[in-house]
Amino acid sequence: MTTFVDVHNMVRWIGHHGPVAIMSGMVDYLESDFKRWPIFEKSPRVASHTPFGVIELMPTSDTETFSFKYVNGHPSNPARGFQTVTAFGVLADVQNGYPVFLAEMTVLTALRTAATSAMVAKTLARPDSQTMALIGAGSQAEFQSLAIRSATGVNKLRVWDTDPNAVAKFVRNLSPLGFEIHVATSGEDAVGGADIVTTCTADKTNATVLLNEWVKPGMHINAIGGDCPGKTELDPDILDRGRVFVEFTPQTRIEGEIQNKAPDFPVTEFWQVLTGASLGRQSAEEVTIFDSVGFAIEDFTGLRYLRDSVEGSEFCEQIDLVANPDDPKDLFGFVGAFSPVG
Ligand code: NAD
Repeated sequence: MTTFVDVHNMVRWIGHHGPVAIMSGMVDYLESDFKRWPIFEKSPRVASHTPFGVIELMPTSDTETFSFKYVNGHPSNPARGFQTVTAFGVLADVQNGYPVFLAEMTVLTALRTAATSAMVAKTLARPDSQTMALIGAGSQAEFQSLAIRSATGVNKLRVWDTDPNAVAKFVRNLSPLGFEIHVATSGEDAVGGADIVTTCTADKTNATVLLNEWVKPGMHINAIGGDCPGKTELDPDILDRGRVFVEFTPQTRIEGEIQNKAPDFPVTEFWQVLTGASLGRQSAEEVTIFDSVGFAIEDFTGLRYLRDSVEGSEFCEQIDLVANPDDPKDLFGFVGAFSPVG
């Protein structure tokens, strides 16, 4: 049998534990998986691009467990009543190849993306950071705010989105949770005085939602919306302002902000900062840039965390996903027992 977490149970699970406790637990799991980065099987994701958006498969394995996520990215979806990003994912036992865990990942992706941003901000942002600017107030924005506050203590938010309804939703969701929120009149207004800048917009174009002249010494930039060929958010000159940290370099060169730079543009893989192989922030004036695209190991970690948390609980069920004949060679007889051939 395969353990299954559907949308209903995912929502109940988050309601039970609370998103902050979950994302903070996920940060610990992420740190532990990033520290064993070299043992994972890694490849850039498989992407099917159409004029509508992209559908991707994201596989990895730690030699004991294999995982993949199915995820789409369709920036024009919200205007048609659909979400930009939806996903589901699987863990499988490498010893017999059977899928052992299946889960919705639309919500889990928001949690793991925010937990990853939080892990990186905790390490790279200035320790005295107090204010975060958000450019883009869509599905990811509240998760980003909660996870980063939990990891860094940043409680003041300055938010800008071209859609006033998205900003109103953001304020409605986060004001009751104790944030101080400034509704900005432009991207520049949002970024003014911010210590951390999170860009989480969705537009299938090389956009410039953050200009180089708005970036001040000491800022940490958490750029999560540039995650596809031809879909970026930053003024490329920003990437020359400080060190650029990435997840898996070959994938980020295809999908991240650095696609707008030369193929040998220098980057640091973040796992190396955690293991001590590379330095993190080196001064209060340094600009640090996380060019996030979302990598398969983060999904592996998210699924691993969810499985460990729900196993044996009321937040999952067992489903009959794999046909299992008594004689492993008699699949035909197995089918015939239910539906005799006439
Ligand atoms: P969403 O569609 O729900 O929200 C995006 C918001 O950006 C919308 O409210 C839109 O009005 C706003 N926006 C678009 N262009 C803008 C601009 N020029 N200035 C200000 N606001 C603008 O999308 P989402 O689910 O919140 O995802 C945000 C982005 O993050 C997407 O591009 C998505 O692909 C990406 N993403 C990355 C990761 C990762 O791991 N790096 C994970 C999930 C999503």
